[in-house]
Amino acid sequence: MISVSEALQHIEKYCTHNKKVQKSIEKTLGLVLAENVVSPINMPPFRQSSMDGYAYIHSEDTNYKVVGEVQAGNGANIDLKPGEAVRIFTGAKVPDAADTIVIQENVTRIGDTIEITKIPNIEANVRPLGEQIKTGEIALEKGSLLNEAAIGFLASIGVAKVKVYKTPKVSILVTGNELQQLGTKLVEGNIYESNSITLKMALKRLGIKKVKIRRVKDTLEATAKAVSKCLAKSDIVLISGGISVGDYDFVKPALEENGVNEVFYKVNQRPGKPSWFGSKKNKLVYALPGNPASSLSCFYVYALPLIKAQMGFDEYHLPRLIATATADIKNLTGKTLFLKGNVVNGLATLLDGQASSMLKSFAVSNALLQVPENKDIIKQGEEVTYIQL
Ligand code: AMP
Ligand code: MG
Repeated sequence: MISVSEALQHIEKYCTHNKKVQKSIEKTLGLVLAENVVSPINMPPFRQSSMDGYAYIHSEDTNYKVVGEVQAGNGANIDLKPGEAVRIFTGAKVPDAADTIVIQENVTRIGDTIEITKIPNIEANVRPLGEQIKTGEIALEKGSLLNEAAIGFLASIGVAKVKVYKTPKVSILVTGNELQQLGTKLVEGNIYESNSITLKMALKRLGIKKVKIRRVKDTLEATAKAVSKCLAKSDIVLISGGISVGDYDFVKPALEENGVNEVFYKVNQRPGKPSWFGSKKNKLVYALPGNPASSLSCFYVYALPLIKAQMGFDEYHLPRLIATATADIKNLTGKTLFLKGNVVNGLATLLDGQASSMLKSFAVSNALLQVPENKDIIKQGEEVTYIQL
């Protein structure tokens, strides 16, 4: 059995970025930019008025003759001499000769003339050409997360397509004779199948929306067949249950039968000891324990980084932070503990209900407190590392 840090070292070797694909910007929400984007235009593309008012050549005079009007979208250049002004609106192209815009609130207009009641500074309310970004400058760097602001910015400089890292195809294989799907009446001895839902939601939060879920009964034949199908269709296969040492746990032999090479099996931790990681060519398989809290803990610690790395994130682990324990946390197991807790204002509190079968505490926790295997107690007031959820 290996330690958590050894397992993480193995995981690290498989944390690589996927290949690049070109996508229309509207299909890139939540994805990571795989190449720098260079601005094809100046923004603004012309000297632009930032206010409604009058464009003119700055002087100490207060009276000007209005010789024309320029609306947003009008590309004409209106000629302008000292002593003259042009009516202008927000977003409109400033006449080449003008250097200043006086806002309409500081002007009294009588017929074709204006009187400025408060003289603006020279160059006031004129957005210079390329003020935000110039042609050829880097608009967004490789590695940037494409959120709505970033995508909108790309649109504003006329970039319709970008290179992003390909989103991995993930499938989930659920094992267990006792599992019933939602919406059916529970038969005695059965439980509702929840791991696939939990994992599907976690993947959705990462931006992976299409996930193929397969369910099998606990036989070697069915499991091996399903593993083969999952491998054919996906980059990453997550398996739930059947990886322990019971007589009806067939995931390990099914993986062996399919030629998936084991990287590690069993980690010295609680919950989540019986988990298995392996690969076949460029496909990755993470077999998670069946117990719901173990399954999700192992997903956060090991599977999530593999997925986020493929998606192009440079920081692919969940954040590991430090808080102060509000009470003693004992560890008499010799294993690394991942305990459901809450961290508020830097203070970490352990939740009741830490059993691997329980999701109730997980449902209201915002942190997994990580207690090292070699530490038998973290005393109240001492620092504790936690994984931010
Ligand atoms: P296993 O790892 O298959 O031995 O399962 C360990 C425990 O987790 C058993 O009590 C299972 O009933 C439960 N379990 C396994 N898979 C699921 C699942 N998909 N949803 C909810 N509970 C599960
Ligand atoms: Mg099982």
